Amino acid sequence: MSIWQLVTDSPQKTQRLGRLLGEVAENGTVVLLKGDLGAGKTCFSQGVARGLEVPEDQPVTSPTFVIMNQYPGRVTLYHFDLYRLCGSDDLETVGAEEVLGRDGVCLVEWPEQCDLQIPALNVEFSIASDETRALEVRAADPFHRQLLSRWQQAWEAKAMTPT
Ligand code: ADP
Ligand code: MG
Repeated sequence: MSIWQLVTDSPQKTQRLGRLLGEVAENGTVVLLKGDLGAGKTCFSQGVARGLEVPEDQPVTSPTFVIMNQYPGRVTLYHFDLYRLCGSDDLETVGAEEVLGRDGVCLVEWPEQCDLQIPALNVEFSIASDETRALEVRAADPFHRQLLSRWQQAWEAKAMTPT
């Protein structure tokens, strides 16, 4: 198990973190985003979309009412919000099983709703204060551990260069 703990002190920083993940992510990546409402999951997802080169005219919004949104990019981005789901039947209905871990980069908000048991990068957001979010990232399988390592390196390299 690889674990990365970090703190972001602005929405911009959370988006930048997401963007770097988008830049290093590959086909088959699954990212489970946990945390309370307002913790920053969608904010982070917007950054990932930028990193995947999703066109700017396709803004990433919360897919709560449609469950899944799909965006074209360097690789396809699938953005799930399972908040309103209550079982794996519903997951089947949206065709999630054909996509998760098989195609594109999948971001999943509220994975707890479906007890998803698939290899993934787990990102847990905690609200520390108005503008501060603590993140804990975990990866257990080799594919996502490697991704986590590339992501961390990209983040640390970025921290060295003045913005
Ligand atoms: P979620 O999808 O987890 O419900 P959103 O990303 O939609 O959360 O909303 C996060 C809210 O918190 C936004 O209004 C954002 O401006 C605010 N915010 C404040 N500080 C941060 C931070 N460090 N990272 C992310 N969002 C933050
Ligand atoms: Mg959201």
